[in-house]
Amino acid sequence: MRFVVAMMKHETNTFSPIRTDWRRFEEWGAYFGTDARRAYEGTAMPFGAYLKLAREVGAEVVTPVAAEAMPSGPVEKSAYEMMVAPILEAVRRGCDAAFLDLHGAMVAETTPDGEGTLLESIHAIAPDLPIAVTCDLHANLTEAMVRNSTALIGYKTYPHVDMEVVGEQVGRILLRALEGEIHPLMGWDRRPLLAQTLRMGTDDEPFKTLIGLAREEEAKGMLAATVFGGFPLADFADAGMSAICIADGDREAASTSARRLMETAWEQRQELLYRPEPLAEAVARAKAIAGGPVLLLDHADNVGSGGTEDVMTVIAEVLRQGLDDVAVAAVWDPAAVEQMAKAGVGANITLKLGGRTDMPSVKLPAAPLSITGRVRALTDGEWIVRGPMYTGVTVRMGPTAVLDTGTMQIVVVSRHHEPWDLGVFTSVGIDPRAKRYLLLKSRIHYRAGFAPLGRATITLDGEGVTTSDNSRLDYARVRRPILPIDRLNAPPGPRQ
Ligand SMILES: [Zn+2]
Repeated sequence: MRFVVAMMKHETNTFSPIRTDWRRFEEWGAYFGTDARRAYEGTAMPFGAYLKLAREVGAEVVTPVAAEAMPSGPVEKSAYEMMVAPILEAVRRGCDAAFLDLHGAMVAETTPDGEGTLLESIHAIAPDLPIAVTCDLHANLTEAMVRNSTALIGYKTYPHVDMEVVGEQVGRILLRALEGEIHPLMGWDRRPLLAQTLRMGTDDEPFKTLIGLAREEEAKGMLAATVFGGFPLADFADAGMSAICIADGDREAASTSARRLMETAWEQRQELLYRPEPLAEAVARAKAIAGGPVLLLDHADNVGSGGTEDVMTVIAEVLRQGLDDVAVAAVWDPAAVEQMAKAGVGANITLKLGGRTDMPSVKLPAAPLSITGRVRALTDGEWIVRGPMYTGVTVRMGPTAVLDTGTMQIVVVSRHHEPWDLGVFTSVGIDPRAKRYLLLKSRIHYRAGFAPLGRATITLDGEGVTTSDNSRLDYARVRRPILPIDRLNAPPGPRQ
């Protein structure tokens, strides 16, 4: 048997001004052929799980590409083709099954449904090819994705610490189908609801219940049951919440299960939306908490959802209110890193930090913060993840510096990086456990590494292209009506 195993991942924030060219993929990880296999073998990724399963059944494996970029604007045509072309070529050469490690919310310049279009193209070349697909919990599921795959599953955790588990689950479904043991059939459903990523943490309600119900469907006989939170920052027709189930030989049963999951989600719709709080009030609340570390989330500039990671609004407010013993991860500013590298460790320096990027989609001009401090550390920004998410993967933040203002230590990076692992601090000599406050440009993924440390968590409503306030964003392409852009009170029928 010959398997094609490939990874193509990007969560596209159509409001983000950050370019998504091929270089963006190379910065996080872009490999072809045997290099792809070498890079992800043994990692806790779906790609790693697929390789393990292939070895188990003694299949020959072809790995045309494994590429992922941190979230940002629409994927440029050439970058999209860099990934799609080798996958299609590998399928054209002949194979018995394809195992794909995808995201599910990729918008490319040439197609708003990056994954659906890829799967459609594969299907056109090999109409009978069995295809297993893993998607992120933030996938925006489309008809094309469902119609052109055999078994599709999503992560059940946010932060995503079960990537390998779901890879193995869907991989085994496909292997059993190849043996003729089962006949996977899928049914899906959705509701017109742009749920907020801040409300999708799977340790909190209502997602805790929704994921619990999905597990119940599996316990009752579904081969797999998935609730997708969706990605509300991708302005395209199919954005929003959905559910998909896989049943053995019974599409109707799969559809019924998916509908049940979506009915509960719709009942909980108000809990899936975000309620803002004035920034100054939230910072004052943080200041009043005794002990630490207190986790402060600058979630409107969350690089893990396409944020520019250089908005200084929240940092400025925390400095203004005089919070002490704060460590920040991270501010993206390659020019500031260069300036600090020139000055050298130990030097006192005044510089304009952050605010390098204009954000026309949220009418936010670039606004750097003038700041004085001591250069405390300079590193190459490379470290290996030891925590539970992306375990074993090498992170490359690019040339990195720490600016120490006396009350605040700011990690300044040259490549966008969402802080979800302690390594972002320990790699530059900061002990996050010993800090009073950890200010993180993150939304939920910080929990993977930081939740066990946090004495309290305060979400700070700053500014940026990952704002949780949908009214700040001009949606043009998403299907209407949809919550929370439109008022919708009557329960809609299935698949809207
Ligand atoms: Zn995600």
